[in-house]
Amino acid sequence: MRSIVEFGPEDIVLDRLDILRSQGIPRDAELTDNFERIYGESIELFYELAVLRGIIAGITIKDFREVFRGEGDNEKENPVEEIYRKSGHLALFAVTLGAVLSEKVTELFDNGDYAFGYMLDSVSSYAADKLTDLAAAHLKSDLIESEPASSSWQVLSYSPGYCGWNISGQKKLFEVLRPEEIGITLNDSCLMSPIKSVSGVLIAGAGEIHEFVNSYTFCDICRTKTCTERMRNLK
Ligand code: SF4
Repeated sequence: MRSIVEFGPEDIVLDRLDILRSQGIPRDAELTDNFERIYGESIELFYELAVLRGIIAGITIKDFREVFRGEGDNEKENPVEEIYRKSGHLALFAVTLGAVLSEKVTELFDNGDYAFGYMLDSVSSYAADKLTDLAAAHLKSDLIESEPASSSWQVLSYSPGYCGWNISGQKKLFEVLRPEEIGITLNDSCLMSPIKSVSGVLIAGAGEIHEFVNSYTFCDICRTKTCTERMRNLK
């Protein structure tokens, strides 16, 4: 099944502590009035300018094998390959916060307003992650309707450019998913436009399938280690 989904900006809960943490700011840091002004205006701009849309399309494990292989540039051993083979359901997805918000971030940097640009960029990146979570929740609710046993499943997203799935995998993913229908395009460097967009695969299945030991060769240079928190949050 292929569906286009829409959300309102108010569906995204912007967690101040998480956003500040993403900027490396400790929770007990004393912040200046100017910082608070820029933060407040960035939050307002997000709710004013964001237009949230997404596309989700189910795909079989057999067909996803080709999508994942992409241009053949993936790391030989990677967690995504191990996980998708054990999944109960797979869906390609792409979500976006829309062109207007993304263009505003670019405009602020182009005009030399780096503090505001950096803040709006942080807020938007955080919101794009949360939008991906909304897409995952949407898929889970669809799955539960058709298969109640899937209510205990966990749906997590995995994207080209991370964890051994080479960024060139975007090409095959776009070829099959066709997110141009909701205004998301790909350039020759495999970067998406609008910039505040996320694409990849939603993998649904028992929580255990998403657990792995993050000791792949590329994990040595990973600065975020986001898999650790995702695995900790598995219920
Ligand atoms: S440590 Fe980083 S690169 Fe390795 S699996 Fe986790 S998130 Fe991916």
